[in-house]
Amino acid sequence: MTAQHIAPAWAFEFHGHQCPFMPIGYRMGRLALEKLGVEREKDHGFFVIAELGEGHPQTCMMDGIQAATGATFGKLLISKTFYGKLAATFYHPQKGGIRFSLKPDAVDGMGKFEFIAMRKKGIEPSQIPAPVSEEIIRWVYEQTDETLFSVEPKPDFQFKPVKGSFNKTKCGTCGEYVFDRYLRMKDGKPVCIPCSGY
Ligand SMILES: [Zn+2]
Ligand SMILES: [Zn+2]
Repeated sequence: MTAQHIAPAWAFEFHGHQCPFMPIGYRMGRLALEKLGVEREKDHGFFVIAELGEGHPQTCMMDGIQAATGATFGKLLISKTFYGKLAATFYHPQKGGIRFSLKPDAVDGMGKFEFIAMRKKGIEPSQIPAPVSEEIIRWVYEQTDETLFSVEPKPDFQFKPVKGSFNKTKCGTCGEYVFDRYLRMKDGKPVCIPCSGY
């Protein structure tokens, strides 16, 4: 097998089905950590800006990226530009950024597999027979990193994460807590966005 970074079983379990895109994202994430010379992120110091959009199956990559890097949705370390592109920039404040994109030829190579044909017919990955998904996943593992990815160092990349705050206020209408940056004023009292009506 060519790939050095194979998505572990727990990542597939977290993702929910067998598909080629989660392991591609996993590999992308591990390579990005390696190239930037950083460890998997434990806290809040590593960021991923994914260029994916929605409504295309390759977005599964983002689960692999999160599993590999520790830059998770819950820690607010991964965001999306909605460009609809198969790329992501990985950023560490001390190490700069690096952008990975999936090469068009690799995407075309995957398009020849039964798995993609079945997905195009609207069949969900969990309903696709195991040998069909294993075939394309195996192909991905057999490709070199250079075949799959374009890599572009971005030493000057800048990204300003939102500053964390514990300050919260009870909404004047529903009484639930709202973190202060999300408060709105209505009839002179602080309210949450749903209660504000806009
Ligand atoms: Zn998937
Ligand atoms: Zn409210």
